[in-house]
Amino acid sequence: MDDATNLPERLDVVAVAPHPDDLEILCGGTLAKLVKQGYRVGIFDLTCGEPTPRGSLEIRKQEAELARQILGVQVRINIDLPNRILMDGPEARYALATAFRKYRPQVVIAAFGRTPAGSPDHYQGGLIAEAARFHSQLTKWDERFDDTSPYRVPHLVYAPFPSDAENRLWNSTFVIDISETIEQKLEAVKAYQSQFDGNRFEKVRHYLTSANGYMGGRCGFLYGEQFALPTPVGGDDLFKLVLGGKGSFAPVQLPGRDHLPMS
Ligand SMILES: [Zn+2]
Repeated sequence: MDDATNLPERLDVVAVAPHPDDLEILCGGTLAKLVKQGYRVGIFDLTCGEPTPRGSLEIRKQEAELARQILGVQVRINIDLPNRILMDGPEARYALATAFRKYRPQVVIAAFGRTPAGSPDHYQGGLIAEAARFHSQLTKWDERFDDTSPYRVPHLVYAPFPSDAENRLWNSTFVIDISETIEQKLEAVKAYQSQFDGNRFEKVRHYLTSANGYMGGRCGFLYGEQFALPTPVGGDDLFKLVLGGKGSFAPVQLPGRDHLPMS
């Protein structure tokens, strides 16, 4: 607890998604990397993810905690909204905004996409995260937010579902190099044995290494995770921004020192 404010210690980054396992799949490599880079990271699961055919409340809780430990993420909380029937609405927004006010993150990563072959919770969760980020800053409504003070979340980032029904024209996208944390990510997904046992996990591993391999390859990394912004990417140093991506994965080697790819 932070004695001065009676609030928990601040988080730098908070990632939000409907179900325990969504964020591991979408951006587990980046969350693990952020922790390695020294940031305080939180995962906010909107629901418990249960019922599912092979899970139970207790098992899913243990799996989520194991996945948290594998990623090294400092905080994982559950917002306790209903699974399967998650809907954007005032009460859901207040619940998530209250958690934003308590943990005061600089960046919120929201899982986003419409997954008609998967759970409709995914789309609703993205709407709730967008709205709660806005609601968090509202004044004169403290009683709706557990008597916490208004807090403005400066930055919103989307973690797009690869199975989105639509090809979205995001204002900007970028890819984070997760080559050093891909194994941690896969271990964290594997922690959900009630969802991905044996054969099912092998399929998920194939899918994730393929998707992350493709996405990373586009920026010259072995593995990468894609993110999107509601705005263009801002930067004050064009050179550093452009060199963050390594360019072509297998560049043609031209003779002469000045033609070697920079790293
Ligand atoms: Zn899900």
